Amino acid sequence: MTGRVMIIGLGPGPAKWVTPEASALLAEATDIIGYGPYVDRAPPSKAVRHASDNRVEVDRARHALELAAGGAQVAVVSGGDPGVFAMAAAVFEAVEAGEEAWRELDIVVAPGVTAVLAASARIGAPLGHDFCVISLSDNLKPWSVIEKRLVAAAEGDFVLAFYNPASKARPDQIARAFEILRRKAGERIVILAKAVGRPDEEIVYTSLAAVEPADVDMRTLVLIGSSQTRMIEREDKEPWVYSPRRWEA
Ligand code: SAH
Repeated sequence: MTGRVMIIGLGPGPAKWVTPEASALLAEATDIIGYGPYVDRAPPSKAVRHASDNRVEVDRARHALELAAGGAQVAVVSGGDPGVFAMAAAVFEAVEAGEEAWRELDIVVAPGVTAVLAASARIGAPLGHDFCVISLSDNLKPWSVIEKRLVAAAEGDFVLAFYNPASKARPDQIARAFEILRRKAGERIVILAKAVGRPDEEIVYTSLAAVEPADVDMRTLVLIGSSQTRMIEREDKEPWVYSPRRWEA
């Protein structure tokens, strides 16, 4: 059998949100490569597991390509969707900069349920109209670029979803992001969707005026409504949040 790289999204956490394609490809893997916690989520099998640190994406991608060039069936795993702030782009970056022979390899990308879709489904239908997804991590881009995009997105009146909203190394950026939006957008519904689909799931319904930056951590998907996003209150139950299909001009 010739080698292959299978870039697989494992969804946000629970088994029910892993696609049948992802499961089938994982079962064919001779090697599983990824950030430790994601590798641990692959069901038990005879595959060799190569768990690595979160910050070595391109090294990890090259390793996968080398193994596949040697004939292995290599699963490269990401949480959520592998194309959203995850390993698929790192693999193609490695291919473009790497050995000529890697371009002949069989590479397949299996999509997954990305965090913003899982969070949206939990709370109602906040993505019913146009939305915009931004990673707040400045590991791979300067903070000035992030600020520019926040301003532009606020001006566009999109629903916003923040991935990587905070970490121990950069606790203040989410506060700065909220501040920019308060200035540019005014009041908005804010949802902190934490660890969606996992045992420690928690959903906080709040607003730009009331949100506590300290409530946001690395497990959080931050959703900020557009000017037209609405909340349907219910007695003794969580509200439903949705963005109407039609934009009222
Ligand atoms: N490829 C992943 C995203 C990786 S970036 C995907 O498609 O979902 C990591 C960020 O994703 C986290 O900081 C968090 O903002 C978000 N995230 C991932 N899983 C999540 C979950 N179960 N609940 C809430 N947010 C999640």
